Amino acid sequence: MNRVLCDVNGPLPGPTLVGLGGMHGNEPAGIRALEAVGGALKDEGLLRGRFVGLAGNLPALEAKVRFLDRDLNRIWDKEEMDQGSEVEQRDALRLELRRIRDEAEGPVHLVDLHTTSGDGPPFTVLGDTLANRAMALAIPVPMVLGLADALPGTLIDAQDAAGMASIAFEAGQHEDPLSVDHSQDALWLLLGWLGMISRRELRTGEPRRRLTRATRGFPGAVRLVHRHALGSSSEFRMKAGLRSFEAIRRGQVLAEEDGGVVRAPASGHILLPLYQTSGDDGFFVGRPIGQSWLRVSETLRRRRVERWLRFLPGILPDPDPGPGGAAAFRVHPMIRKIFFPSLFRLLGYRATPLKDGRYLLVRRSEPEEVELPALQGEADSGNDITATPSSPTTASRDV
Ligand SMILES: [Zn+2]
Repeated sequence: MNRVLCDVNGPLPGPTLVGLGGMHGNEPAGIRALEAVGGALKDEGLLRGRFVGLAGNLPALEAKVRFLDRDLNRIWDKEEMDQGSEVEQRDALRLELRRIRDEAEGPVHLVDLHTTSGDGPPFTVLGDTLANRAMALAIPVPMVLGLADALPGTLIDAQDAAGMASIAFEAGQHEDPLSVDHSQDALWLLLGWLGMISRRELRTGEPRRRLTRATRGFPGAVRLVHRHALGSSSEFRMKAGLRSFEAIRRGQVLAEEDGGVVRAPASGHILLPLYQTSGDDGFFVGRPIGQSWLRVSETLRRRRVERWLRFLPGILPDPDPGPGGAAAFRVHPMIRKIFFPSLFRLLGYRATPLKDGRYLLVRRSEPEEVELPALQGEADSGNDITATPSSPTTASRDV
């Protein structure tokens, strides 16, 4: 298999859309979708800009396994590492992405196509910046905030730091043929949103209908409030038949672990229940976020309210700027406890514990101008998110 699955250029300059498939070798749906969309664009032509399809983990795709040495989607933040199959793959991909960025005549957007071990509707995963939100909202599926923070070392996180809008799209179950359709749908909608295809309405009508149908009844956006981590030796068995995004009640039995049962710590929606033989995370719980929360946070960020944060007691500007040069702060635990669930999160900060007991608040860089559409098909529920944030952690097997 070639690294470059397709590379189509339009006659007019414009944005670049990069689609990546097969970051995990047991997830071939994204590869098929990129080949199909690339082929269709070659016949019909692209109106403007450039569409590139890349294959992720070539040796793992060949072997049809998730990875050979280590998870390729967990090592984008680690520089000093022994050689290994995935380190080589990452470096080759990084070179390719850098080349595409250097050649670009407009903004570059990245969509990382995945599938999951369990059943469930398609959804997007993104770091919470306005640019990423705008991109995710072009696709009418639930958007999951906070999961990207819980999984360090992902490709989309690395691209965020480089200032490129990037999201992951989870199309459905690994072997479900619908996952290929959903991945294609997402690509067409992004091409339409970026104004890169002619007869846009014709091209995006069916994809929009199909994804809307597949996600009917699910919340438009959720925030991660809990991660169930697995110990290295724990015996874990998910209760059969749980689907991602299924509504769960606090106290409901979700799994068996080491001879006992695991109950839902909070009501909400279960995300990524583990049905593969191994993994680091049993499941996640998300809570719906309303349109009002998204609007308020957008307004605060556009007004650059973070400039006033240093006037709060117990908060100090950090001498090292965060990724992409965004301002970072050191925060007293009390202040974090009072303000994190509301203010800091509205502003898009994530908190990392420091050795001295304080917290480092870092935010992804925000681009200057972003147009944000409303949340798809969602009545404003006005939910306030007050649950404690889950700590930054290692890996889920499905993203
Ligand atoms: Zn994956």
